[in-house]
Order: sequence, then structure tokens, then C-alpha cells
Amino acid sequence: MAADSYDAIVVGGGHNGLVAAAYLARTGAKTLVLEARGTTGGAATTEAPWPDAPEFRVTRLSYVMSLLPATIMNDLQLERHGYKIFPMGPYYQAFPEGGSLTLYEEDSQRAYDEIAKWSKRDADAYPKWNAWLGGLADVLGPLLLTVPPAIGSRKPADLAATLRLAWRHRGLDVRTIADVTRLMTMSIADLLDDWFESPQIKGALAVNGVIGTWAGPYEPGTAYVMAHHSIGDVGDGRLGSWGFPEGGMGAVADAIASSARANGVTIRTGAPVAKITVAPGSGRATGVVLANGEELRAKVVVTSLHPKTAFLDHVGREHLPSDFASDIEHWKTRSGVVKINLALAELPDFTANPGTNLQEHHTGSVEMAPSMEYIEKAFIDAREGRPALRPFSDGVIPTAFDRTLSPEGTHIMSLFTQWVPSEWASEPHADELEKYADRVIDTYNEVAPNFKGAILHRDVVGPYEMEQDYGLIGGNIFHGELSLEQLFHMRPAPGFADYRTPVPGLYNASSATHAGGGVCGIPGMQAAKAAIADRRKSARARR
Ligand SMILES: Cc1cc2nc3c(=O)[nH]c(=O)nc-3n(C[C@H](O)[C@H](O)[C@H](O)COP(=O)(O)OP(=O)(O)OC[C@H]3O[C@@H](n4cnc5c(N)ncnc54)[C@H](O)[C@@H]3O)c2cc1C
Repeated sequence: MAADSYDAIVVGGGHNGLVAAAYLARTGAKTLVLEARGTTGGAATTEAPWPDAPEFRVTRLSYVMSLLPATIMNDLQLERHGYKIFPMGPYYQAFPEGGSLTLYEEDSQRAYDEIAKWSKRDADAYPKWNAWLGGLADVLGPLLLTVPPAIGSRKPADLAATLRLAWRHRGLDVRTIADVTRLMTMSIADLLDDWFESPQIKGALAVNGVIGTWAGPYEPGTAYVMAHHSIGDVGDGRLGSWGFPEGGMGAVADAIASSARANGVTIRTGAPVAKITVAPGSGRATGVVLANGEELRAKVVVTSLHPKTAFLDHVGREHLPSDFASDIEHWKTRSGVVKINLALAELPDFTANPGTNLQEHHTGSVEMAPSMEYIEKAFIDAREGRPALRPFSDGVIPTAFDRTLSPEGTHIMSLFTQWVPSEWASEPHADELEKYADRVIDTYNEVAPNFKGAILHRDVVGPYEMEQDYGLIGGNIFHGELSLEQLFHMRPAPGFADYRTPVPGLYNASSATHAGGGVCGIPGMQAAKAAIADRRKSARARR
């Protein structure tokens, strides 16, 4: 095989690209990963954003693990390659009007006592809610590892796949189907109103419904987003709950890269791809052209990039069916997320739970989402074209466990905040982002008065930077919204949810396929499996 020729080329060295490459190489395929940036990992990245303080490292975009299946962990032997998770502590919210709420997932009596401070009725309802959600997660979780069938297709193989899926769910009763329907169609606000009465509990439980979403808690479909973030089992073994990887999220990508290399994968960084080449006659993918003009050939190409980049820029409309090109053009990819990373001289000293010594409430999510109305107002501001006056924030302090990220005695705090107008993905808005970050910090300072003074450095990453520097078009954190019309057999386009594309030989491993987004590796694994299955099939046909 010529030096510039490969069995498989993977475009993009984010965690999904790396997973795809590792699976392909395990079958003996000569595999190359091409990554535009200087490092691999994409949105799973640990960086030192302050040149004058390189001893502080932040998990710059994504910040916690949950959905990586045991299959991938075992197949790629990730623990042997350095993958280590610290399970997260409880959910914590200190309220501007005083008091706090700590939700202990593992200790039902403590959770009861905490919730009963705000509502005895809600304390009684909480275990039932958890059981209800657990039952639904048991139905939805395994679907994440299911390749969506091409619903509506009359091809025998597609019909068989649709029937197999229906058969698998034949045991579901009317009640469960009704509950799944509710979950798929309701707003998280309406759903929580059915279960709980206190604004404090509803605020706490609404957060997962709007994470990364261009929708406030009153928008239909947000109940499903909550479920997506609450699934703890994808059907191949119970996962740990949310957790912090040692070394930050970049360490997860590093473990996958190390496993890929051990399987023989070559990884080139600083190698932006400009084009995916397509043979004129057969319409098959034949390789890639890099931005510097270098041409590389491959029997299989896997793209893990945002679908607008992969298909509209790299493949080109001229090689795509017009329906598909139009679906990708209309792909919704907004978020309005701003990530704020802080280096802290000391831990937040909450008025409701005093002390700068490490305590349990520092070890989980340290929220600023005191009620659903608070979250909703933040969204309305952004939808009307203004950055939120009082943004909501999903905060975490990974250094409560992971001492590799900052010097002894100091801490890193990661604030995942929403929303700024989605149009901010097109322009930097640098000054306004700093003012927005000031307001986020002020909200924490109201409940922990040492907060502002403890900040040594800060790093604010808005949608423009996410698009320009990381390829997250529109600033969407998942390569495309998790809205109902973009899920399962529609992700990223009807007829192409099986990780294949309209271009034979080109496979899709992006978070814009089913089970993405999130750092779960499932799209990478499924795209590689589809490519491997197709090659075996054509090898059999040639015999
Ligand atoms: C702010 C933020 C917070 C998040 N928080 C969480 C979280 O806590 N937990 C969680 O599970 N998920 C989280 N996510 C989502 C998760 O990080 C992503 O869904 C996931 O990392 C995407 O992985 P990927 O491999 O599919 O794509 P990416 O990580 O986007 O990787 C694509 C890669 O392709 C590269 N690339 C782009 N263009 C080219 C080109 N022309 N040539 C070659 N390479 C190219 C990019 O540089 C990148 O490395 C978050 C995302 C963001 C942005």
C-alpha cells in the first residue's frame, strides 16, 4: 500500500473520531486520524488557558462524564490507558433568598430531610419520581445503543430492522408507552408541575432539561433532554453516575488516543481537512485533501465533524441527493452556551453552609438555577436578542477530587452557563461576554460572598469561539440540537441514521448521529462497525 494510502481515514480527532479509529484498527485496518487542531479531543479537552499561570488546567468545554458504555471501556481497555473517574457528589443550590438544597442521590433519608425543608409533599414524591424515571431510563437507555432503522423505507433489510425494534418492545404496556410519550412531548416544566410543588425542587430538577438546549423549560421536548441526561444505563451494564475524569475531559480523549495508537492508529494533528474526494463514476468516497493541498487516499472515510462542515463543505452538494443536502442545510444547531472557567484561591464560602474547607456540597454540581422561572427568564432574554440578565449556571469544582489540575490549596471551577443570543456564534461579542461573565459571578457572590475575591484567573468561551476554534457550528455543544425532530431515525437526516451516508464508503461518527451528543463514544463505535460490516459484506460478495 502506498504511503499516502490507507484502509481508513478518520476526519477529526475528537473523542468519537478516536473511538472510530481504534475500532477500525482493531480489525487490522491501516488507519489514520486527521485532526485540525494542535491536540486531539475536540470538545473533550483539558487546557491551560492562562499563559502566566500554566499550573492551572481546566476542562475547557465539556466537564463531566456519564454515558460512555462499558462495552467501549472494555473493548478499548480504557482503564489500562489511564481512564479514571471520580463519582460526583450531590446536587447543591444555595438560594439568593437564603437556605440551600442538597440532593443526595445515594442516601434517601438525607434526600428526604433536605427536600422536606422546602416541601414535605415533594419529599414524599421524590423517591417515586426517581423510580418512575429509572423505569423509563431502562426503556430508553438500551435505545442509545440501537442503530435507528430507516422508518418508512420499503427495502427488506430496513423493514426487518423496524420490525425487530418493534418486537423488542412488544412487552411494553399501555402505561409505559404513555409515559414515554409524555417524556418525548412534554416540557420539563409541565412534567415537574405534575409531580412537585416547591420552586426549589422544580428548579433543581429542571436543569437537565435545558443543558445545551436552545429552549427554556417551558418548551415541549425538554422533558426528553432531561431523560437523555438522566439515563444511567445504556443496556450493557450499569454505569456510574456522573463523574469527573482524572486530568479533566482531555484525559478521556488521551486514554482513547492511547488505546487507538496501541492498536496501530496513526494520529496527525495540525492537519485540517479541506475536502472529501468522491470518485466521479461510482460516487464513492476515495480519500481526503488537506488544507495544504496534500491528497490522501483510503478505502473507507469516516467523518466525525459537524454535519454542515462534513457534507456541505467537505463533500459538496453536487455529490449529495438534494433531499439530504436540504436536510443538512436545515439542521438546527443553536445553543447560546457560554463556558466560564475559573481558577480559585479558595473554595466558595456559602452563607447557607459556611466554610472554605472542602465539604460535601463542594463535590457535586454547584448550581445557580434557583427556580424554573429563573431559568425561563434567562432563555427569554436570549431569544429576544439580549444576553441573559441573570444566567443560569451548572457549576462544578473537579479539584474537590482531582488534584492534578491546580496547585495545592487552590481550585478550578467550571461554570456551564446559558444563555446568550444564538446569533452570537457569528461574531465574537468579547466585551459583552465579559459583562455576562461578571453577572454570572455576581449571582454566586450573592450566596457565597468570598467568591469574587477568590478568583485568580478567568476564561470565558462563547459560541463564536466554540465555532471558530472547535468546529462547533452555531455554538451547539452536541453538533446539533437534541430537539425531537432531530432524534433517533432523524439524526442527522431521515434514511441516514445508521451511521452511513449517501456517499458509499463515507461513514458518519459525529455527535450529530443517534446517541450523540455527549462524551459517550457511541457514534464513533457505530460508524466503525457499519464500515467494518460493509467491507466484510463486499469481501464476501467478491469471493
Ligand atoms: C461547553 C460544552 C460543554 C459540554 N459538556 C459536556 C459534559 O459535561 N458531558 C458530556 O458528556 N458532554 C458535554 N458536551 C458535549 C460533548 O463535549 C460533545 O458532544 C462531544 O465532545 C463531541 O465529540 P465528537 O468527537 O463527536 O466531536 P468534537 O469533539 O467536536 O470533535 C471533532 C473534531 O474535529 C476537528 N475538526 C474540525 N474541523 C476539522 C477539519 N476540517 N479537519 C480535521 N479536523 C477537524 C475538531 O478540531 C475536533 O477535534 C459539552 C460540549 C460543550 C461545547
